[in-house]
Amino acid sequence: MELKTPGYVYCPYCGKKLGEKIEEKKQRKFCGVCNWTYYPHVAMAVIAVIVRDKKVLLVKRARDPYEGTWMFPGGFVELGELPLEALWREVREETGNEVTQATFLDIFQTTDDYRSPGHFALFYLVEIQDGGGIITDQEENSDIGWFDIDSPPEIGWKSHKQVIKRLQEKR
Ligand SMILES: [Zn+2]
Repeated sequence: MELKTPGYVYCPYCGKKLGEKIEEKKQRKFCGVCNWTYYPHVAMAVIAVIVRDKKVLLVKRARDPYEGTWMFPGGFVELGELPLEALWREVREETGNEVTQATFLDIFQTTDDYRSPGHFALFYLVEIQDGGGIITDQEENSDIGWFDIDSPPEIGWKSHKQVIKRLQEKR
């Protein structure tokens, strides 16, 4: 997949302007002071697909990209976290519920986030405890709700749309 490399100008360690060097035939940003080469790499996100009684649990985004659209609960894996730890944390933060079971579903490479081009989104089928209420983190989301799989609200992320489509086709 062809993606544009973020155009970093300054060294994140010493703050001096980055130079350039050729390494293995590739042009790399380089800080001679810190002897640090910038190798572009991608982040990882975990997404919780929570389905119950033909309904999916979605949250409404309060931030860009796709502010005002709906998505499965999820977020970036933080430094030092394992993907499942991040999944547990995100579900707790965004739905107010504990994960009781998680099964890996699929991995997508995301191209529609300018802040984190090419990041991997790991989708999991997630079970949460029965009968619990739902409450979402008001900083990240403006709403939360259960929606019929066949008539979801407007979804922003392309990968989330694809997974919704798969859920619809599976039935
Ligand atoms: Zn430096």
